[in-house]
Amino acid sequence: MPELPEVEALAHHLREHAVGRAVTRIDVVSLSVLKTVTPAYTDLRGREVTGAGRHGKHLDLECGDLHLIVHLARAGWLRWSDDLPAKPPRPSGKNPLALRTHLSADESGGESNAAPRHVGFDLTEAGTKKGLAAWIVADPADVPSIAALGPDALGLDRDRLESLLTGETRRIKTVLTDQKTIAGIGNAYSDEILHTARLSPYATPARLTSEDLDALFDALHGVLTAAVTRSVGQDAARLKGEKRSGLRVHGRTGLPCPVCGDTVREVSFADKAFQYCATCQTGGKPLADRRLSRLVK
Ligand SMILES: [Zn+2]
Repeated sequence: MPELPEVEALAHHLREHAVGRAVTRIDVVSLSVLKTVTPAYTDLRGREVTGAGRHGKHLDLECGDLHLIVHLARAGWLRWSDDLPAKPPRPSGKNPLALRTHLSADESGGESNAAPRHVGFDLTEAGTKKGLAAWIVADPADVPSIAALGPDALGLDRDRLESLLTGETRRIKTVLTDQKTIAGIGNAYSDEILHTARLSPYATPARLTSEDLDALFDALHGVLTAAVTRSVGQDAARLKGEKRSGLRVHGRTGLPCPVCGDTVREVSFADKAFQYCATCQTGGKPLADRRLSRLVK
């Protein structure tokens, strides 16, 4: 799932390549993706893209006083193209394309006689779990999941982080990924932040020491900032899907921890899993895995 760094990289790409162009057409291939009816998506036509930003893991394409908001969910992606097909796409169950935005090709005011290019971007979603969502709104806060967001992870200072965690008795892993508490962090980067801070995913925030909080704050900023730099450098919007690199524990079950060499372990629950290093994070003790312990009994 794209998290803060990937969505920030997509917003960066749109600021560099979409701002200043006009929306010329929107092809809605999957009707279920569009969550708003009014304003209509056709209302975006002719409007200039004036900015692009991010609210937690939501992407925001600003078109004057209207916003196209996108949540990529687990398998969604935005793919930029300098050469979109002119023909409207045909809806098909197998087509990962959900919504296509065409933008005007000339940024500086038509000097060429060549055939006009179709630039713009596709919103795609792989697989069968449909979570990709788009809204057209006058105010981003009209999107319920944006209105409910906690403070952005990259905007937190240490004092704010401490006040968010004071009295918090849920597991730190749960708290870091709760968008209503802190916006932008998901399963992958919470694994990385906790590994860097040498904290157990099951640690209770209310019981963290001042040193733990220092380590958590430094890890949160360090991991996310490095990932934003990496994602922007990869020109995320030209890739077919997110390509994460530089992860130390997330998605690396069974591989050696790059810090201590211990084997990266996994805890599974429902339909997902998270990873950690026992030597770095839990004093060498493996965490209970409910699924596994049930099998063992
Ligand atoms: Zn380790």
